[in-house]
Amino acid sequence: MNSNQVKERAREAGADLVGIASVERLKDLSAEASPLSIFPQCKSVIVLGRRILRGALRGIEEGTNFGSTYGCFGHRYLENQFLSKTVYDLTCCLEREGIEAVPLLSFRTKGVTLDYKVMAQAAGLGETGKGGFFLTPEFGHRQRFAMILTDEAFEADELKKVSLCDNCNACAEGCPLKAVHTEKFLSSGLEGHETETFAIDEKICRACKNGASCLPETSDDVDRYAAACGRACMVALEGKTTNKFENKFRKRSVWSMDITGSAAELSFVGGQAPVKN
Ligand code: SF4
Ligand code: SF4
Repeated sequence: MNSNQVKERAREAGADLVGIASVERLKDLSAEASPLSIFPQCKSVIVLGRRILRGALRGIEEGTNFGSTYGCFGHRYLENQFLSKTVYDLTCCLEREGIEAVPLLSFRTKGVTLDYKVMAQAAGLGETGKGGFFLTPEFGHRQRFAMILTDEAFEADELKKVSLCDNCNACAEGCPLKAVHTEKFLSSGLEGHETETFAIDEKICRACKNGASCLPETSDDVDRYAAACGRACMVALEGKTTNKFENKFRKRSVWSMDITGSAAELSFVGGQAPVKN
């Protein structure tokens, strides 16, 4: 089986994105973050992504439904069922070929945790933008990742050199709680290929009622994809990603809640008030 065949099988299994990183590219990672700590014979990391449906963000954008739109189809089901099934099916396929393959979700665990942003960057799928979101040319921030570690040295993908993040600051300006510090920067991503990201006050994000969520057994301590900052980034990148839509996502001015969960700014169709998540 060669790398093109792996990618074909991955797409048949439902992957929207697939890239391959050689373990050599990941050799400087600490033991707590290295694929070699999980599978010492690992030679390649296959990184699989599935899109977060744009439609799954609609309920939060309107402020009317958090759980059964994004909470299920953008978050829990996507990670725990759809993406997991893609990983499982491709792992079965590799095992049928006699290749040892270790399926892995991006969950933060007490043991070794691979950083999905580092893995996806190493597999040539994109890089982290200023707002801290991993951005791909296909979907911007709208995807989730999982991995398969293999003992086969598949041909690795080149790193993506073109960044989608154009420093527009929409993510920072879209945060009603001023949690994004545009004057303080951190460095993110693969060693030697880091990108600059804004420092973000995660304590504030944990309490944010603007679409952020904190769930156990998921990829991020605070999931910000559907939060005001994440949706602002999505809107800013509209038309720049290869996944295009006929109509614009944002239909009206945005709602926001202050830190107590009280409405800070409202603008709704039909007088619909936002629900509290
Ligand atoms: S999660 Fe909420 S508080 Fe944190 S940056 Fe996004 S909008 Fe701001
Ligand atoms: S909103 Fe703009 S600055 Fe922020 S991550 Fe997205 S593209 Fe980059």
